[in-house]
Amino acid sequence: MKDININSSISRLSQIGQKRVEAFQNINILSILDLFYFFPRKYLNRKTIKKISGLEKGETCSVIGKVETFGNKRFRNKMMSQVVISDNTGMLTLTWFNKAKYIKNLFTVGDEIIVFGKIGWFNGFSITHPNFEIIGNNNSQLNFNSIIPIYSLSQELKNVGIDQRFIRNIIYDSLLYLNHVKDIYNKEYLNDYKLIHIKKALENIHFPKDDQTLQNSIKRLKFDEHFFLQLLMSLRRRSLRHNKTKPMSDIGPYFKKITDLLPFELTKAQKRVIKEIHFDMKNNFPMNRLLQGDVGSGKTIVAILSALLAVGNNAQVAIMAPTEILAFQHYNTFIKELNKVNISCCILTGKLKKAEKNKIIAAIKSGSVSVVVGTHALIQKDIFFKKLGLVIVDEQHRFGVKQRSALIEKGLNPHFLSMTATPIPRTLAMSYMGDMDVSIIDELPSNRKKVITKAIDENRLNNVYSFIKDQVVLGRQCMIIYPLVEESEKIDLAAATEAYEKLKKDTFPKIKLGLVHGKIPSEEKKSVMKDFELNKINILISTTVIEVGVNVPNATVMLIEHAERFGLMQLHQLRGRVGRGTEKSYCILVNRKPTEKSDSRLNIMEKSNDGFEIANEDLKIRGPGDFFGLNQSGYIKQKIADLINDGLIINEAKKLTNTIIMEDPRLEKSDNYLIKERFMVEYEDKLYTVKIS
Ligand code: ADP
Ligand code: MG
Repeated sequence: MKDININSSISRLSQIGQKRVEAFQNINILSILDLFYFFPRKYLNRKTIKKISGLEKGETCSVIGKVETFGNKRFRNKMMSQVVISDNTGMLTLTWFNKAKYIKNLFTVGDEIIVFGKIGWFNGFSITHPNFEIIGNNNSQLNFNSIIPIYSLSQELKNVGIDQRFIRNIIYDSLLYLNHVKDIYNKEYLNDYKLIHIKKALENIHFPKDDQTLQNSIKRLKFDEHFFLQLLMSLRRRSLRHNKTKPMSDIGPYFKKITDLLPFELTKAQKRVIKEIHFDMKNNFPMNRLLQGDVGSGKTIVAILSALLAVGNNAQVAIMAPTEILAFQHYNTFIKELNKVNISCCILTGKLKKAEKNKIIAAIKSGSVSVVVGTHALIQKDIFFKKLGLVIVDEQHRFGVKQRSALIEKGLNPHFLSMTATPIPRTLAMSYMGDMDVSIIDELPSNRKKVITKAIDENRLNNVYSFIKDQVVLGRQCMIIYPLVEESEKIDLAAATEAYEKLKKDTFPKIKLGLVHGKIPSEEKKSVMKDFELNKINILISTTVIEVGVNVPNATVMLIEHAERFGLMQLHQLRGRVGRGTEKSYCILVNRKPTEKSDSRLNIMEKSNDGFEIANEDLKIRGPGDFFGLNQSGYIKQKIADLINDGLIINEAKKLTNTIIMEDPRLEKSDNYLIKERFMVEYEDKLYTVKIS
């Protein structure tokens, strides 16, 4: 069939009818080329597999054998299914209980299968409930290879008869058209970066000739995925540098005044990052910088001082927070400092009355207000800044790029400072934030103390309550946090309120308690918070609203209810609310649903006070897509790349993209044509303001 090529539908391959086409379509496999890129989930190597004659009772290992017999029988009231397999050295019995229905149609005599499990003895070697994969028919030539690919097959695929054997055959057949694939890199790039040709890589990722070739294939295909992401980042970085802006070379009259008035000395790290920020602001192209610092490392004062530099250069500043509550907290912290030097500052949120809102919008437009705090409503269509020079964004990963392009469309080209308490592993930052420069506050103010952390189950709560009473007698304060998520907001609020009533009545009748949560009117909330700050309230009960922002150095106990429902970074942030004073502080995590997973997560909190370490552990448990909320963002396109462990490959890919962009920024050379073509398919929707055509 001459007219078939890699872009042809997979329906052109034999044995793929309408049902199978649909099943493949649901996992985004439409064409023969897509099939090439359906990579195995893992590989089994025949060389590391044990012969049956060499097995020992009690060991856990893999065995490959041919199905000899299979069937069901009753055994002590249970239905027992057994399959006997043999290699050329012996027999092994596989046993399942009460799985007859499931096992029944799975095997065919003569099939080769690989099994994994603990070897027992039951009239001969046996494994109960083994893990297994059906490799396929022994006669198939594909099975003579020593490395066997295993694919990830959804139930839907299995339902239409696509099993390991089938997928292997179909991919083998499709590789007939591999000759039509062209390499996106020229010979020189392939040589320089020691990459094998794409044809060889695609063939060997499915049917590896040997282990070395498999490793080379994996490296090549990983490289490609990193390459396009790095290309996106280089193009963004480059296009930003072409947007000219007025250098902010002055220090201005405010910076030093406020620094001198601070009740503390800035840490070395704070001083360093402020230098880095000002260095960027002196450029004639906009800053695009990420400020990373653990909870309590003092990012806010860095933001304030940066704002003072901008205002000192006659520019306006916008500070954007992810929620209104956070915006208010920032506003309060900002005005405290800005009032000292008479810089006008206001807050703009959706909750304002219309007349007031209009007044503020007018002030922003006329330039009479210098610093505006708000949510991202701040940069919406109807808002025009007279001379916006700096945008500071708090805690919103990936917030910057889209927002910036919205601003650029309005003809604005401000400096950008993005702040986060989430320590982003270097490789991940290189991948997803490769268009940004990074400043890290790697030092906490010296007055910070390690918070003693303990995870408990609910029957130890009474001890904790008496401990809290003791602390209150000593004059200390305490916070008790309840979880609240949008999906179960009503139930969560009720639970927190009920707990508050009960604690007030039964547990702490003689102690002053306060309650805050998102549904409490903001005046009342403010007054409760004020009372807590003044130690008129000893124990503050709260949902997660205080997560970022409460600063009461006298608070020494943080009790977190249903700790198993919180993310680790969130727990770490909450914990950061205590340990700010001179007294020893405690964080108690109540695990109401102990499981192996929740135990081990909370254990990390007990062991570490270091945000970076905690983030890394969390990342291991959840994976990068989930951790950074990237899964829904359309950024994660990688199939084989590992965003945490591919540091060396990422560096190489970055080097190549830089070389290419330097020589041919618009990818116009014929050598780069295929790169451009594929890049546009992968990432055109993420380019925003970058124009390459
Ligand atoms: P985060 O980085 O979590 O946003 P904040 O900016 O809220 O931290 O700072 C936490 C607290 O530490 C604030 O009360 C702030 O005033 C204080 N702080 C900031 N820098 C220093 C410093 N160098 N020495 C002592 N306290 C500081
Ligand atoms: Mg903060």
